[in-house]
Amino acid sequence: MPQLSRRAETFTDSVIRRMTRISDEYGAINLSQGFPDFDPPKVLMDALAKAAYEGPHQYSITFGAENLREALARKQEKAIGHPVNPETEIVVTCGATEAMMCAMMTICNPGDRVMVFSPFYENYGADAILSGAEPVYIPLVPPEYGFDLSLIEKGFREGAKAIIICNPSNPCGKVFTREELLSIGELALKYDAYVVTDEVYEHMVYAPNRHISMASLPGMYDHTITCNSLSKTFSITGWRLGYLIGPEKVVEGAKKVHDFLTVGAAAPLQEAAVAGLMLPESYYEDLLALYTEKRDYFLKGLDSIGLKHNIPQGTYFVLADIQEFLDLPMFRGFTDLEFCEWMIKNIGVAAVPGSSFFKEPVNHLIRLHFAREESTLHEALLRLQKLTAFS
Ligand code: GLN
Repeated sequence: MPQLSRRAETFTDSVIRRMTRISDEYGAINLSQGFPDFDPPKVLMDALAKAAYEGPHQYSITFGAENLREALARKQEKAIGHPVNPETEIVVTCGATEAMMCAMMTICNPGDRVMVFSPFYENYGADAILSGAEPVYIPLVPPEYGFDLSLIEKGFREGAKAIIICNPSNPCGKVFTREELLSIGELALKYDAYVVTDEVYEHMVYAPNRHISMASLPGMYDHTITCNSLSKTFSITGWRLGYLIGPEKVVEGAKKVHDFLTVGAAAPLQEAAVAGLMLPESYYEDLLALYTEKRDYFLKGLDSIGLKHNIPQGTYFVLADIQEFLDLPMFRGFTDLEFCEWMIKNIGVAAVPGSSFFKEPVNHLIRLHFAREESTLHEALLRLQKLTAFS
């Protein structure tokens, strides 16, 4: 067989999505890949049914249906505090996954350096490889997940083209403060670089933390590509609807990249999603209240089991510490991946091994998510309780 490309051989499949397949195979409760097990708002399902009969069923405009871009611009310009032109400053994509890839391919030449925080959402590694960029990792240091700004300045000084910020941050739940974002933004301006943000968990930010968009900070709109999605906000991860927002010059490039990558996101789903964006502000407040309840319930459950964990400021992920188990004779030599596989088969709960998010050699963490009905979380906690029998 002729060889595959170096590009395709440099990375593995997504461990997050692989864990879902293993979880399904063994019928475990899947707290690995983050997606809700409850329905989207009824207005969205009704709108989808309507679109099935009334269309559209053919391609939308490649960079997104006009009414969806309008609705997205109205919602996000409020969040950003800066006007967003739906004609020239938005591209609707197939999930934030495509938005990120599209952003990277639009701004990076092969060999360009891009700073990525570690831990990071695993897609960014593949995004860098596929766009030819070279990732430079900046550690987020637990337990606060703070960072050393001088490392970021060094990265920019040495020519990094961009920095990727996942805010709120998957997997560690960090919510960047205004001061942190200002300090990074200042450097991006000083060195004339881009900031690419992934803000898909923008509505899951727990009090007293607040979500601040990088693009909202002084001077940053023109240097920021904001990648976002409707997946988490409307519990429609399977609809694959995302978007990017940026200054016209960048979006002009992104429109072309997107067009040749996918032509466009599914037209009937774009139409149906508009109904979600028409929901009042209270929808987002209720969503946050729901996830705050789930977070508190799940973390309390982990506490009563005695599983050590971080306290996420945002997202629906929590990192649990499995070191005490790895120290037991029966798990000696286990990697975190092997531990997760064992947990699926013997405990009936799926998690993602922490090593898939860290550049550093981290083997003692697993990521669990709590975007589940409370009854499912209850059952998952009962199963996790069984772990204590081994400690
Ligand atoms: N963001 C989700 C996670 O980290 C999953 C996203 C995906 O699989 N596309 O689990």
